[in-house]
Amino acid sequence: MSPVLEVRSIAGGYGDLRVVRDVTLSVQRGKITALLGRNGAGKTTTLRLISGLNRLESGEVLLDGRDVSRLSAPKRARSGLAYVQEGKRVFRERTVRENIVLGTYAERPSGAQLAARVDEAFERFPALAAKRDSPAGLLSGGQQQMLAIAQALAARPRVLMLDEPTTGLAPTIVDELFDLVQALRSEGLGVLLVEQAVDFSLGVADDAVVINLGGVVFRGAADAPDVGAAVEAAYMGAH
Ligand code: ATP
Repeated sequence: MSPVLEVRSIAGGYGDLRVVRDVTLSVQRGKITALLGRNGAGKTTTLRLISGLNRLESGEVLLDGRDVSRLSAPKRARSGLAYVQEGKRVFRERTVRENIVLGTYAERPSGAQLAARVDEAFERFPALAAKRDSPAGLLSGGQQQMLAIAQALAARPRVLMLDEPTTGLAPTIVDELFDLVQALRSEGLGVLLVEQAVDFSLGVADDAVVINLGGVVFRGAADAPDVGAAVEAAYMGAH
């Protein structure tokens, strides 16, 4: 089966600084790919290049086989690619409901469709439903992370990219997140997960890609016998 997201030899960075030199990876429908690497390896930049927030210097990004490399970030979002950025969780002054509605901005669904999207989100996240009219800034850190994901899902993406979703969260919320990511997988979504917490990441993922210095040093099954050694080497900077 062809992957829902295919990234071929992408490169790019910030101005003259080429942070990502050559990254190739793919995400299958209904599977989770973990993208691992130590601080500064280029994980966030990889997600920014895939989403279109940073300009690709070379390489291609394909969504369901369609080359979206030349599309703007909003157009890639409209094509089914959702990206939950690290730390940038929610619009704190807006209500929980408004934050979910903002997730649909790229397609502006009609009233009835929009209401269905909001209902869907509240069904999946009952704790958010209970606070639908509260400003998002009043939610706990964990609930804000869930809201950020709910906002991304409101666009009904085919691929969800999550950058460090567990950072700063209490263990119970991390467990909830683990269950959520697994549920999304079983619904057929493809997930690209960037996570410092290696155990979390490899525990939930089907496939793993380890990068170092902007290049891939391991690509394979998340439970492959040599994945641990590759992660360890990359985290120690031995490549
Ligand atoms: P982390 O886990 O620390 O987020 P990462 O693997 O996601 O690490 P990136 O955030 O992609 O790494 O950063 C890779 C390199 O790019 C780092 O050396 C960083 O200093 C640099 N970098 C990141 N953002 C910018 C920016 N806005 N301008 C210039 N350089 C940047």
